[in-house]
Amino acid sequence: MVTPASADGATADHDTSAPPPLIELRAIRKSYGGKTRGPDGKPLPTTEVLRGVNLAIRSGEFVAIVGASGSGKSTLMHILGCLDRPTSGEYRFAGQNIAALNADELAWLRRVAFGFVFQGYHLIATESARENVEVPAIYAGVPMAERAARATALLTRLGLGERLDHRPGQLSGGQQQRVSISRALMNGGHIVLADEPTGALDTHSGAEVMTLLDDLARAGHTVVLITHDRDVAAHAHRTIEIRDGEIVSDSQDSAGASHGHGARASFASPALLDARAFMAAMQDGVAHTASFLAETREALRAAWRVLWINRFRTLLTLLGIIIGVASVIVMMAVGAGTEKQVIEKMASFGTNRIYVIPGGDNPRGPGGTLSMADVDIVREVPNVGMAMPFLATYATARYGNVDAQAALWAVTEDAPTVLNWKTSRGTFFTADDERRLATVVLIGKRMREKLFGEADPVGRYVLVNNVPFQVIGELEEKGASSGDSDDDNVILMPWSTGARRIVGTTNLSWISVLIDRLDLADDTEKRITAALDAAHRVHDFQVYNRAASVKAQTETQSTLTLMLGLIAAISLVVGGIGVMNIMLMTVRERTREIGIRIATGARQRDILRQFLTEATLVSGVGGVLGVVCGLAIGAILIAVGAPAIFSVRAILGAFACALLTGLVFGFMPARQAARLDPVVALASE
Ligand code: ADP
Ligand code: MG
Repeated sequence: MVTPASADGATADHDTSAPPPLIELRAIRKSYGGKTRGPDGKPLPTTEVLRGVNLAIRSGEFVAIVGASGSGKSTLMHILGCLDRPTSGEYRFAGQNIAALNADELAWLRRVAFGFVFQGYHLIATESARENVEVPAIYAGVPMAERAARATALLTRLGLGERLDHRPGQLSGGQQQRVSISRALMNGGHIVLADEPTGALDTHSGAEVMTLLDDLARAGHTVVLITHDRDVAAHAHRTIEIRDGEIVSDSQDSAGASHGHGARASFASPALLDARAFMAAMQDGVAHTASFLAETREALRAAWRVLWINRFRTLLTLLGIIIGVASVIVMMAVGAGTEKQVIEKMASFGTNRIYVIPGGDNPRGPGGTLSMADVDIVREVPNVGMAMPFLATYATARYGNVDAQAALWAVTEDAPTVLNWKTSRGTFFTADDERRLATVVLIGKRMREKLFGEADPVGRYVLVNNVPFQVIGELEEKGASSGDSDDDNVILMPWSTGARRIVGTTNLSWISVLIDRLDLADDTEKRITAALDAAHRVHDFQVYNRAASVKAQTETQSTLTLMLGLIAAISLVVGGIGVMNIMLMTVRERTREIGIRIATGARQRDILRQFLTEATLVSGVGGVLGVVCGLAIGAILIAVGAPAIFSVRAILGAFACALLTGLVFGFMPARQAARLDPVVALASE
């Protein structure tokens, strides 16, 4: 049998025929302070906690490290377990220099080689006993069913078969410690590192735990037991005493190679002990993780657990996102609804219209008149579809002994198109009626009601300003009344008849122009102005472009929608800050949990994913609640009669924004969590 490395490990000589010790420390030093600053801002004085520790532990040994409180035992254990790096010196694991390994590789080593048992148990409070035991296997990528079976078997073997679903808080100290031992064994637990495992336990539970460790050592596990209690240390086969960061005695030096544990050493994953196989195993192990889907599902499950436990706090934090998403949906719906309403209203007035009105800009300037000659000039302008003379006045109509005041519009046969107005009864007058100065009229619905009640007016005669006219049709109800004029209380007659027989002037009230292409409206307006200017030689008219005002109105509308969207965006940002706040709080509250997860083999990216998943889930829940609220408010608005049109794009967009907010604002806290130093994290409350 090969003599184990002496206390002076630095001189150990590597014979290729002899396997290297499982663990070999050479001149390990660890100091705190120097760089880190204390509360007063000055660098803390450097304290050297380990001062040149040389130690070799062979596979299958049961070693106790004893020493007074503060002698550096825990610091040594953190270094042994790859939770901490020494300030100087060399740590060889199975002959490999650990200093060369990156963070992922160290995580792998913790996962496959070590199992930690702490004085304070260090269980995750929100998870059940079985889930706690499963944690190391999650990070090793063991499938769910296999994991659960192994955890159940381990807990049952340790006498906790009845307590699988209990939370740590529902277990006694001794039971919690047995859960943590099960967890240490989950991935094999080749090396069990136990730091004062009985420190917090009563005598009976302490004895039980020690029996368990004895059993493990007998079964071939390498056990490193740290204690200040010599009685506890007596269980071990080898006792190393540490004082002020230095090894002062090692029972093996005096006793020589004693126990026949070498025979069972093969238990501790033989592949790991072969220097060549070690690297290959590591490459495999680092690369092997569960599928992305399985990992995400795992992260979602854990995230949901935490959310549910803190549901009230989470809900409050989510208000920002809920309000943001709901307002995006409602505002978009109302915006779209109002816009549609405005456009419909505009369309009923006619958007592709230009009006030429007599009278210049200057009220003291020339009065100006428009005549039929001007209508002919306008008709020649390109893009003008129709130009219609319009003579508007008031008249009295009489039927039998009923008198009624009405608006009188003298127009041409183009009116149905230009005014976008159809007849509901009878027919419109024709170009022939226009030429013959025919005494025919059409009446609006209100007019008909006043004169004829519900009777059909077509064919009857009415007196308009005492001139008899035959009613040849009734106009469809317009409904929309602007100001105090009622479009349905109207009489329409041929322009020529109206001008000659009723009004007695051929001066037009205005010219209504229908243009073919709306996009050329501005150009057409200019051309009409130019043509009339040329004919009149003075600018004694005004051109009013309906299309332009519609455009302006829709622009106002979209500005409004944009503003509403901006308000919604602001509430999303506020929501995002809420998410960031709750995540920072979560990370702070769960620092020790993060330490536990890292100690059991989680990589930085596992922690990052866990907290990002939580942030995204939080905001996703907020998004869903926001969508529900938004739809509910919108439904109420619709029920009340407000214009609202839901758009799937707005709903999906708002939800996606919420998710994105969670990702963006959750990233910083998640990265903070992933970068925690495991030793510091484990020590936190
Ligand atoms: P033991 O486990 O033997 O009681 P520790 O290894 O926990 O001792 O601590 C050894 C010494 O190192 C103590 O004096 C302690 O104050 C100091 N120490 C431990 N951790 C830190 C740290 N993070 N920063 C500064 N000093 C530390
Ligand atoms: Mg300690």
